[in-house]
Amino acid sequence: MKKIWFLFVFLSQLIVARAQLPSYEACFTSERLRVDLVFTGNAQQEDVFLHSLHKEPLWAGSKTQLIAPFTFGDFQYKVYSTDGVLLFSKGFNSLFAEWTTTQEALATDKAFATSVWMPFPKKTVLLEVSCRIANKGTWDPMKTFTIDPTDPLIREEKPICKAEVLIQNGPIENHVDLLFVAEGYRAGELEKFRKDAARFAEYLFEYEPFKSRREDFNLWVLPLVSEESGPSLPQYDIWVQTALYSTFHTFYLERYLTVPDFSLLAHAVSGAPFDALFVIVNSKRYGGGGIYNYYGISTSDHPQSKEVFVHEFGHSFAGLADEYYESEVAYIDMYPIHVEPWEANITTLVDFASKWEDMMDREGVGLFEGAAYVPKGMYRPAKDCRMHTNKAPAFCPVCQRAIGRIIDYYTK
Ligand SMILES: [Zn+2]
Repeated sequence: MKKIWFLFVFLSQLIVARAQLPSYEACFTSERLRVDLVFTGNAQQEDVFLHSLHKEPLWAGSKTQLIAPFTFGDFQYKVYSTDGVLLFSKGFNSLFAEWTTTQEALATDKAFATSVWMPFPKKTVLLEVSCRIANKGTWDPMKTFTIDPTDPLIREEKPICKAEVLIQNGPIENHVDLLFVAEGYRAGELEKFRKDAARFAEYLFEYEPFKSRREDFNLWVLPLVSEESGPSLPQYDIWVQTALYSTFHTFYLERYLTVPDFSLLAHAVSGAPFDALFVIVNSKRYGGGGIYNYYGISTSDHPQSKEVFVHEFGHSFAGLADEYYESEVAYIDMYPIHVEPWEANITTLVDFASKWEDMMDREGVGLFEGAAYVPKGMYRPAKDCRMHTNKAPAFCPVCQRAIGRIIDYYTK
């Protein structure tokens, strides 16, 4: 009897807790709010400032999973009502976070634009931005901004470029909306971009778990026009006029291709539905980049464009770490080995139970030393994986599970 009573109390508390979570409709409109932020700092310290607020046409994310079920990324933002109820949260990484681990950040201060998106609030909310303390693995609140949705200076955005459907399997709020953005395509090359994007879509669905979850995706293309073809190549003093100012040689690394000024990308996609952004750069060169909940980017026409795209999408969509440790990178001590890293596919064994300890009996899964640019004390789950080498035919089982969980977040 006592047990039943406890169960009753427990269940009624659960129902009360559920009831306290406000519904999407109670808190948000169907529109999207873009918050443009500027992160500043160096290797020792970081700060964040509010730049501007933008009202965009459509919220494409989940309307039921407003609080992210995982805390990936070096930053997170949480949206609270003025009486302290958590309404929305999401984690992300940025080029700024990577830059703070470079040699340059030891000697100078820099500022990087970043934008975050949320459903458009009906009432005043508080936006709290936090950063992860790398050598502790804990969160540190950086700043809280008050956002009044009736502020007359919130700019109402009209799409500068209309997104086109590539594949639509269902409503945007319970599908993963992946937006391919054109970069370095002149007006006469947009048909090539549409074909490149369709080819990239097929590349993605060659790999599990994307293959079996194909129906959970909507794919969109944004045919942005550039004045000139291809990305800039600073290492050869080649600068081209493109829509997003993409460039190789990021952090002085030949193959690192990025959009250094995120505000150009944020402005370009303001009218488009998306949960994930991937920039296709019109080029035959080898290279790319991918940053969690920020964007992925790679080139259209290198013989290994497929492998690079899928790898970079693993970073940007699922926050997967590089499982390699052999290549040249620009980062210094990005991963302290006395802290469990947040990425699902690497471990320092500080908290292995939170990683793939439960999958150790699976074929091909184990503990392989060397990952995430660290040869000793950092482990990866498989001998090879799409996050390790271009020869790997598949994502390892641990990466597949991690990707599946992200797809669930957007769709269930
Ligand atoms: Zn893997």
